[in-house]
Amino acid sequence: MEMSTKPKVVVGGGIIGLVSALAALELGPVTIFDPGIGSGATYAAAGMLSPGAELLAGEAHALEDAAQSLADWPALLDVIKGPPNIFFPRTSSLLTGFSRGDSEEVKRLTAFAQKSSLEMEHVTRLSNSSLFSGISPRFTQGVLFPDDGFVDVEKLVEALLANLQLNGVSIITECVVAIEGGTTAVVRTEKGRYEFDSGILCTGSQKSLVDTAAAKSFRSVRGVTLRLRRRELVPPRMVRALIDGRSIYVVDRPNGEVIIGASSDESDERYVDAQAVADLLRLGIQLCPSLDDAEFLEARSGLRPVGPSGQSFLERLNGSWAWHTGYYRHGVLMAPLAYRRAQEFWND
Ligand SMILES: Cc1cc2nc3c(=O)[nH]c(=O)nc-3n(C[C@H](O)[C@H](O)[C@H](O)COP(=O)(O)OP(=O)(O)OC[C@H]3O[C@@H](n4cnc5c(N)ncnc54)[C@H](O)[C@@H]3O)c2cc1C
Repeated sequence: MEMSTKPKVVVGGGIIGLVSALAALELGPVTIFDPGIGSGATYAAAGMLSPGAELLAGEAHALEDAAQSLADWPALLDVIKGPPNIFFPRTSSLLTGFSRGDSEEVKRLTAFAQKSSLEMEHVTRLSNSSLFSGISPRFTQGVLFPDDGFVDVEKLVEALLANLQLNGVSIITECVVAIEGGTTAVVRTEKGRYEFDSGILCTGSQKSLVDTAAAKSFRSVRGVTLRLRRRELVPPRMVRALIDGRSIYVVDRPNGEVIIGASSDESDERYVDAQAVADLLRLGIQLCPSLDDAEFLEARSGLRPVGPSGQSFLERLNGSWAWHTGYYRHGVLMAPLAYRRAQEFWND
């Protein structure tokens, strides 16, 4: 392929910005602006690739895109060329309910997923005891999604950055204060003015650079995840539960680290709220009682970007810029979709 020399720019280096830059690699020089690569919502993400389990969060509209993205993850990894300890395919996730009402709700929500291409299976503690090991005996049945996997998000960001830098991508650690469109894509920071051929804004929940109808109804949902370390290793797995109507998940990573998530508050203030920590610990230990002696490592907060329809989007702003965001709870899972959308934009 002949290399175009038209320089491209990506503003924002979260998961969506990094894969958008990756999609431009063969098309000419690429620059990313971000004062803190990977420090946005991506930093707080649990890394679950779990389309079916997301039904618990009422995200049924995103199911087909999510299922396709799960299937496309291995191909994206081939492009990223990262080490093997990023992606843990087919770890499976179990969806279970605490009370009779919670179990009925799990059945009702997953009945919808049966119409999709997702593999799923009804399981009980009696017939699949190993799936329920370490889970409170109050949880007796559930739905297993055997194809779900997860990624180590920190290692993913590291691998993406390494690949981009190896391929000559420039990283400018400055905050963008304005953009201008037209025949060229102009970026302004406190330190200077930069000009490119075209650009994509991937600033996650930060919408201050955009002034469109979509920007007016764009919102943020704060989420908190907790990191713990088990005293004794257990096999990697993901369990998501409804407990008296409250949703909770526990992700056991291969290195003994555990992620408990996630809170959900309509807010554009990013901080770790005490209520989230208290609720997540209480519900996490109720689901997996053996977590009570785990070591508490840290709590992380992030703002999930939510578009007007709740769906992610890449919207053209003018002749040189597009706005690419709205991945809400699914930015890691949907990275393959984001990569494809960016490819289409750059090639247009
Ligand atoms: C608690 C929590 C748990 C989650 N768990 C999962 C999960 O298990 N699976 C999953 O698929 N998804 C999960 N998500 C969702 C996922 O994290 C997001 O959808 C995804 O990170 C959004 O990525 P992004 O690149 O659009 O935004 P961000 O990661 O927020 O990145 C935006 C970037 O833009 C930069 N930026 C902003 N303004 C400017 C500016 N003016 N100039 C330059 N740079 C700028 C920021 O520094 C930041 O690095 C979770 C989210 C949260 C909060």
